[in-house]
Amino acid sequence: MLYDIIIIGSGSAGYTAAVYARRAGRKTLLVAGSISGGQLMLTSDVENFPGFPDAVLGPELMERLRKQAEKFEPDVLYDDASRVDFRARPFEVSVGGKTHQGKTIIIATGASAKWLSIPSERKFLGKGVSSCATCDGYFFRDKEVLVVGGGDTAMEEATFLANVVRKVTVVHRRDKLRASQILQDRAFKNPKISFVWDSMVEEIIGTDKVTGVRIRNRKTGEETALGTDGVFVAIGYEPNTSIFKGQLDLDERGYVITKDETQTGVPGVFAAGDVRDFKYRQAVTAAADGCKAAMDADRFLSEHYSE
Ligand code: NAP
Repeated sequence: MLYDIIIIGSGSAGYTAAVYARRAGRKTLLVAGSISGGQLMLTSDVENFPGFPDAVLGPELMERLRKQAEKFEPDVLYDDASRVDFRARPFEVSVGGKTHQGKTIIIATGASAKWLSIPSERKFLGKGVSSCATCDGYFFRDKEVLVVGGGDTAMEEATFLANVVRKVTVVHRRDKLRASQILQDRAFKNPKISFVWDSMVEEIIGTDKVTGVRIRNRKTGEETALGTDGVFVAIGYEPNTSIFKGQLDLDERGYVITKDETQTGVPGVFAAGDVRDFKYRQAVTAAADGCKAAMDADRFLSEHYSE
C-alpha cells in the first residue's frame, strides 16, 4: 500500500504527527510499535503538559493522545518497524513481514533512558525511582533525593532538584565528573548538593516506596546504606535509531541529525521528538515537533507530488 506519510513511533511526537497528517487530508500509516506510548508510559503524574490543571497520569495522557489520533482514522499497526529503505522511491518500511511504501516518512521513535539494570529499580519505577527531574522532582519537595550519574544530565538534574527538594546527593561511579565544567561548577557551588564518589547503587530499598539505597564503594568494596526518598537515574539516554543506521545521518550518540527543524539528510524523511532532540526531551516539545514534522511532510508532498 502506498501512503502519503508513514509515521514510525507513537509517543507524543508520533501521535501528534498523525493528527496533523490526517487533518491535512494525507493518507497516513502510523506504525505505533508493539509497546506504544513512549516514555510517558513510565511516568506517573504529569503536571506540566498544558491543559491538565489537575495533572494526568502518563499512561492516561498517552491513551488520550492515541484516541485523538485514531479519531482521524490513520491506518495503525501496533507492531515494530523491522526494516526501512530510504534509498528506494517511494520509501519502504517493513512491519511484521509486510512492506509498506510512503512518499514521506516521519521518524518519531523517541529515546530511552538508560537504567542501572538492578531488579529493585523496576519495582520502584514511579514510586520513588525516576529518570526525569523536570517531570517528577516536584513530588519530592522538601525531601531528600539521590541522583545517579556524573554527566551533564546528572548535574542538570541535581541542580534542578536542589531548587525543589531539601537535599540532593549525587552518587557517581568514579572520582571525577564527566559533565562540562560550567555544570560541574554550578553543582559544586550549590550548598544543597553533596557527592558520594567511586560508588555504585547496588539496591534500592523500601516497601511501598523508596526509603534508601545500598551502595558499594568500587575502590574499597565497602557497602553502605543511605537513606533517601527518591532515586533519579541520570546515566544517559539512547535514541531508538538502530534500524536507521546506514540510512540516515546520525550524530556520534545515534541521534538523527536534522536541519530546518525536522528535515533529515534524506529529502522527504523527517524526524520529530526525542529521536532528534536530546536537549529538551519534554512531552510538550515532542508533541510540538510532531506537529512541525507533519506540516513539513505536507508541504513536501505539495511541492513534489502535486497532480
Ligand atoms: P553521559 O555524558 O554519557 O554521562 C553518563 C554518566 O552516567 C557518566 O558520568 C557515566 O559514568 C555514568 N554512567 C553510565 N552508565 C552508568 C551505570 N551503568 N552506572 C552508573 N553510572 C553510569 O550522558 P548524559 O549526561 O545524559 O549526556 C549525554 C549527552 O548530552 C552529552 O553529550 C552531554 O554533553 C549532552 N547534554 C548536554 C546538556 C547541556 O549542555 N545542558 C545537558 C544534558 C546532556 P562515567 O563518567 O564513569 O562514564
